[in-house]
Amino acid sequence: MPPMNPWPRLLRLYAVLALPILLAGWLGGRLLEVALAAALAAAAWHFYNVARMERWLRLERKLDPPLSRGLWGEVFDGLYRQRKRQRGRQKKLRQLLRRYRDSAKAMPDATVVLRRDYRVEWWNDAASTLLGLSWPTDEGQRITNIYRHPEFVAFMERPERSHGTATLPSPVNEHLHLEIRLVPYGEKQYLLLARDVTHLVHLETMRRDFVANVSHELRTPLTVIYGVSETLEDELGDHPELTDSVHLLQEQAQRMKLLVDDLLLLSRLETAAEPDFGERVEVVRLLEQLVEEGRVLSGEAGHTLSLEAEPGWCLAGSEGELRSAFANLIGNAVKYTPPGGRIAVRWRVDEAGGHCEVADDGPGIAGHHLPRLTERFYRIDDGRTAGRGGTGLGLAIVKHVMVRHGGELVIQSALGRGSTFRCRFPRERLFAATVTDPSRNHQHGVSGPPDTRRQGPAETGGPPTASH
Ligand code: ADP
Repeated sequence: MPPMNPWPRLLRLYAVLALPILLAGWLGGRLLEVALAAALAAAAWHFYNVARMERWLRLERKLDPPLSRGLWGEVFDGLYRQRKRQRGRQKKLRQLLRRYRDSAKAMPDATVVLRRDYRVEWWNDAASTLLGLSWPTDEGQRITNIYRHPEFVAFMERPERSHGTATLPSPVNEHLHLEIRLVPYGEKQYLLLARDVTHLVHLETMRRDFVANVSHELRTPLTVIYGVSETLEDELGDHPELTDSVHLLQEQAQRMKLLVDDLLLLSRLETAAEPDFGERVEVVRLLEQLVEEGRVLSGEAGHTLSLEAEPGWCLAGSEGELRSAFANLIGNAVKYTPPGGRIAVRWRVDEAGGHCEVADDGPGIAGHHLPRLTERFYRIDDGRTAGRGGTGLGLAIVKHVMVRHGGELVIQSALGRGSTFRCRFPRERLFAATVTDPSRNHQHGVSGPPDTRRQGPAETGGPPTASH
């Protein structure tokens, strides 16, 4: 409830005080002198109280105001109430801050508060353990001066490139692996979070090694089985009743060989160093070859394969890996599009980068499958995969190749409306090819042919899309 208005009471009090004095002055014939003396006394009273108030506000830490009556009593009371409220709020805020800091301190993950220039403002105990921050020397230092790992510095310079997350060795112990996240908040402030993921990295390494080793070990027995089945085939003349069994054996051995080859390729993509970006791949030439191979693969199914490619561009990357990726997409289109269907392969370049697209008018894929299509062994169990000889690893390979080339795979499809698989490459991986060079080995430049670029198809309002 707001305090009562004091003025009516105060005016009454001043009237009661002033009237007898003025009356006495008037009766004594000295009204002016008495009025002046009363005004001076009032001014002195106010001055005295202003001085007390100033001293109370400046020096006195205690909450209680100086004792006073009348108008000044009301002023001191008002100030006292405000100060009390303010102290209460401050206390609550301090408690809140302490509780927040205590909980952040207790977190097992490292938390570092960074200012806009990445200078360290605050950190918790886990940050001291995992990132080696020490009090007070590191306060106000740039985090990149404390944690100087080149990958960390590159991550902090362009965190958006890796979606704000990176897995790096700890500066304290290189056997510890940290998952680092940079989260912007407030006005250009950042939270740097680091989590120990050593056990996950070990598990992932074990999984990769296991798959690579098993695949490798399976290769030799498979070659032997296949070889024996071929010998048996030659001997079938004497045992015609075995024809079906031998063919089945051959078919399954071939299928397993494809599987093992794909698994080995995937492990190589996962573990190998990044592709040699000094290599320049002439995309049009590569696609011409692959489309030709696609026609051969289609054979009697009689698909119409067309190629629309913007000439004059080279991609910095591994030709072998890109060949695998594009061949998988064209191979899938041939495999899953009914005979006589159309398959269009396109390559274009615009401001956003290079786009290689394989579109078909086949059965399409239901929306709920799209986000999972690039998982290993994910296949759509609707009868279409039966007898197609796929391994379920093709799109996982494409996705890995794209990640290694700094790009992404975007899948756009809907049931009954065909499918489009688009590989997007970043602009900085594209170079203008020197067309005049007959050996086609030397390319140069950082910008491509101007103005001949076509705009990509609009992506809004179309069938469902998933990026990988
Ligand atoms: P697979 O070896 O089975 O082809 P992929 O990883 O290449 O494995 O593809 C995963 C699944 O995605 C396939 O099993 C198939 O059902 C579906 N798919 C891939 N490409 C197409 C396409 N062009 N049209 C329709 N479905 C496709």
